[in-house]
Amino acid sequence: MNLLIKTGPAALLPQWQELFAEFAPDLKVGWLDDPTIPVESVDYVMVWEPRPGRLAEFPNLRLICSSAAGVDHITSDPTWPRHLTIVRMASLDTAQRMAEFVSLSALGLLRGLKRIINAQAERSWQYFETPRSARETRVGILGLGNLGRRSAQMLQGIGFITAGWSTTHKDLPGVESYAGPDELEAFLARSDILVCLLPDTPATRNILCARTLALLPEGAGVINVARGGHLDTAALLEGLESGHLSGAVLDVFEPEPLPADSPLWRHPKIIVSPHVASVASRRARAHYVAEVIAAFERGETLPNCYDPVKGY
Ligand code: NAP
Repeated sequence: MNLLIKTGPAALLPQWQELFAEFAPDLKVGWLDDPTIPVESVDYVMVWEPRPGRLAEFPNLRLICSSAAGVDHITSDPTWPRHLTIVRMASLDTAQRMAEFVSLSALGLLRGLKRIINAQAERSWQYFETPRSARETRVGILGLGNLGRRSAQMLQGIGFITAGWSTTHKDLPGVESYAGPDELEAFLARSDILVCLLPDTPATRNILCARTLALLPEGAGVINVARGGHLDTAALLEGLESGHLSGAVLDVFEPEPLPADSPLWRHPKIIVSPHVASVASRRARAHYVAEVIAAFERGETLPNCYDPVKGY
């Protein structure tokens, strides 16, 4: 069985081969763009941003594993083989790392971390007090999927008053559940810190816009760790300018990398990070994909599959 990989630099192929030798010794692992590998011999791929047209070149491909939780980097190729299943990266490690980043960001907004960093850059001793603790702060997570659920649990463990919004209601201990467009307004109105962990679909694109941001309580903070297309940057900047919003942590952008002339880079109330919120370790990803392929070989129903009708 042949698995071709394209995620990160090609120089890491020997490391991937070593990891797969441990978890799936029957798999022969090569690089997606290696012209010496016959296209007919390829059964599986694990990819991030495959070159448009490349996946359609493998006539015997049986399964596509996305190296990331999102699949937009595959489905944006109009020629991707639609008869195949795409399995999304949903390792425990991905969820744990995202929850850590979201917790860091929520605590950073709560404790004025950007203000501290700005003052340090100016060697300026600016004493200030934090008006409230996590136990008095309401966090709302848009999207309670693989990453949103774990983030909600961790935030709740820290002490934040936590709620989530999804398509259908969820039963998560200590996490208030809101669902569907009818409950969005009430959810936003109770979110002092809003976290976006939605998939990028036509229904969720631009969801962080002037209308929704205005519904947040005065002084709210915003964390976008999902996709750049969820956020109307101009609306965020306006909200920060007027004082209605107090700060933001942004990890995802459109386009990426964030252009050097973007006003987001130097904004005193925004922390910018380069799409690093959650990248599972290579070991965790190899283990997860090896298990997915083994389950596929046994004919089992696979978890975390992309649903083209739902769009995620
Ligand atoms: P997921 O498991 O598919 O979960 C998506 C959640 O969003 C589900 O709870 C779903 O509701 C909800 N949802 C979808 N459409 C909705 C709508 N129209 N209205 C209300 N709720 C809706 O996704 P995930 O794996 O947690 O990933 C979340 C996001 O994180 C994705 O955008 C992914 O690309 C991004 N991500 C970013 C990084 C990074 O480093 N920044 C790393 C990994 C992933 P139901 O549960 O009711 O279906």
